[in-house]
Amino acid sequence: MRVFEKISETHNFLKTVKARGLSVGFVPTMGALHRGHISLIEQSLKENNFTVCSIFVNPIQFNKKSDLKNYPRETTSDFQKLKSSGCNMVFMPSNDEMYPEPVNTQYDFGQLDKVMEGKHRPGHFNGVAIVVRKLFEIIMPDKAYFGEKDFQQLAIIQYLVKKNNIPVNIVPCPIIRENDGLAMSSRNVRLTPAERKEAPVIFQLLKQAKEKVPSLPVEASGKWIKEEFNKYPSIKFEYFEIVDMETLQPVKEWGECKKIIACVAVHLGKIRLIDNIILIS
Ligand code: AMP
Repeated sequence: MRVFEKISETHNFLKTVKARGLSVGFVPTMGALHRGHISLIEQSLKENNFTVCSIFVNPIQFNKKSDLKNYPRETTSDFQKLKSSGCNMVFMPSNDEMYPEPVNTQYDFGQLDKVMEGKHRPGHFNGVAIVVRKLFEIIMPDKAYFGEKDFQQLAIIQYLVKKNNIPVNIVPCPIIRENDGLAMSSRNVRLTPAERKEAPVIFQLLKQAKEKVPSLPVEASGKWIKEEFNKYPSIKFEYFEIVDMETLQPVKEWGECKKIIACVAVHLGKIRLIDNIILIS
């Protein structure tokens, strides 16, 4: 597995890969890799001749300094996991390499970032779009793989690519979960044992909410899940939104659109976790 830290070397090397007619698959990550990330790598390996993974904890997408500081960094074990997955190349730039100067680009995502993560984490998606666009320019992938775990991020990247005619095919990948249902996340390792024990309730409640569709009206469903979360003293409920899968705008009635997803964010102690479930597809 090749490891690169410099943009120019990465770009030049990948130019030679592409000149040989090889297709390039790309998996952007922030490291502290788990089976969710590896599933994206495996999907890319199946569909491309050459797979690149980036590990970069992107400072400009964190709206809280403490979250950036505490974000897990596990380079040695990440390398081992990537090597055994069969990944061909890792791109691991420094902050100075990626941002030698401050970037002020402001993206307009229409209504897509006015809800859920966008509403609760101001500037987050702008930072994500800046880094993803830059990574696409460096890596020049044919396909890029994004997890449905970050469903709103996926929608924003698809919008970014379409609006700017970026020649990359975005491939959505399913959420990988622990045996008890907790969606895998790099942040899970920072849960205390007690919080970790309670965390599976997030997906349990999402599943129960899905079982209530369509008998329980949309608004009542939101009220019900909030009350359920509030029964857990260690969980601080942030939002539960039932939205149109395409526009991400809240729906008021089940019949309003064809595909509906429920997205949730909660805090368990200091850790913020998100998850989602497709209610109607
Ligand atoms: P991150 O390192 O958190 O920025 O995530 C990198 C990529 O992995 C993103 O496209 C995520 O959506 C995806 N990802 C993270 N967790 C999971 C999971 N549990 N299942 C599938 N994909 C995931």
